[in-house]
Order: sequence, then structure tokens, then C-alpha cells
Amino acid sequence: MIKRGTLVHSEKPFIHALASNLRLSRCDHCYSEYELFKCAACHYAKYCDRDCQKAAWRDHKKECSCFKKLPPGRELPNAARILARIIFKLKRGGGNEQGWYDKNKFRMFKDLMSHLDVCKLCLEKQSGLFHPDNVLHVRTLDLAFEASIQLQKWEDSLDFGPKLIPGFEKYYGTHHPILGLHYLKFGKILMFKDACDKALDALEKAQTILRVTHGEDHPLYRTVLSSLLLQAKTLVYNS
Ligand SMILES: [Zn+2]
Ligand SMILES: [Zn+2]
Repeated sequence: MIKRGTLVHSEKPFIHALASNLRLSRCDHCYSEYELFKCAACHYAKYCDRDCQKAAWRDHKKECSCFKKLPPGRELPNAARILARIIFKLKRGGGNEQGWYDKNKFRMFKDLMSHLDVCKLCLEKQSGLFHPDNVLHVRTLDLAFEASIQLQKWEDSLDFGPKLIPGFEKYYGTHHPILGLHYLKFGKILMFKDACDKALDALEKAQTILRVTHGEDHPLYRTVLSSLLLQAKTLVYNS
């Protein structure tokens, strides 16, 4: 029997963020109420001293530039901030961070929740809140697409793949190598899922871009893309 009041377990949170209604009165890092000063870049986060600001910087760095663009008086929803922090931490390999629950056993964040699940949750929260062209939304879609490929969840890849194209065209332009590579990846997935017509369409778009950005002698163009195109054409024109 464990006596009431005994501390059974304590653990450092994977990420944490101050609730936005407390942002003017508490330090964004340690949550103390002692004489605060603002982050000089975003004027959004407040800190009690330089040590707290330094310690918070790894988590604050990415969001700081987003906060700068917030109209005065607007606050970021708490869930959006938390989810963004989870994504950024996972991006820098935080999924491998170990949380020990006794001397010999630990669990990792990536065992609890896949990167894809986090992205999907974010996209759900963003719907209706962000314009489809919003840069954060496009970034999340990009992460979701990559995660779906890593996990071989092809149905999800087919869902996210086309949604990314308008965003890529807007931010990179219609002839950027990233867009060309996206068409190539997407075409390959479509081939794999036997959607040959759509695959051919995507691969031809990839060809138009990669011929210029990579050149016809680039191995990606010469071997990968050319053989996929040949396969797609054979299947489409012989059916
Ligand atoms: Zn502090
Ligand atoms: Zn800042």
C-alpha cells in the first residue's frame, strides 16, 4: 500500500507553454510573476530574467517570428501554440527524448504518438482558422505529407499531396525544384496505387520542371524520372 500524499511519479513535460491570458503577468518560461521584460523581437513573450529568456529560446525561436506578425492585441490560441511547439521539437529530433518512469524503463514521445498524428491534429485545428495559403498551414501540410510517406500511409499521402501544390506554387513559384520533386514523389505514389493516368500527369509536370532545375543529365532525371515515365506511359497507352 502506498500512503496517501506519497509522491509516486514526477516527470518533466515534453513541452509546455504559458496560457495566453497570463502572458502579460507571468514569465513565459518559469511562470513567475517577478518583474518581467518583453522579448525585444516579438514583444509578445515576457521573461523574468535573461536566464529564462535564454532557456526558452530553443522553443521560442520559431514562434517568435510568427508572433511578430500578429496584429496588436491578438492572441495565439493556446492549442495552436502547444501543437506548434510539439512539431518544432519533433523536427529537431525530440521524439527520441526519453522519459524515465522507473530506473530501468523509459518511453519516448515517438512511441506515444506518430509525427503524422500530430500533423493531422494540427491540420484539424487549423481548418477554418487558417487560410489554405497560410504559410504555417502549408508547412504543416508539408510535414504531414512527408510523415505519411515515411510511415507508408499512402491514402494520407494521396490526400495531402495535391493540397500542397497551390501553397508550393505560391511560395516557391511554378518552376521551383521543390515543386518538381513534389510532383515526382506524388507521381511515384500514384503509380504505386495504380492511378496511372494521374501519375502520368504528375510525372510530366515533374519532367517540365526538373529538366530545367536539375538538367537531363542529373541521375534523378535520367534514371528515376525517366523510368517512372516510361512505366506510366506504357500502362496508360496500353490500357
Ligand atoms: Zn522566468
Ligand atoms: Zn520573441
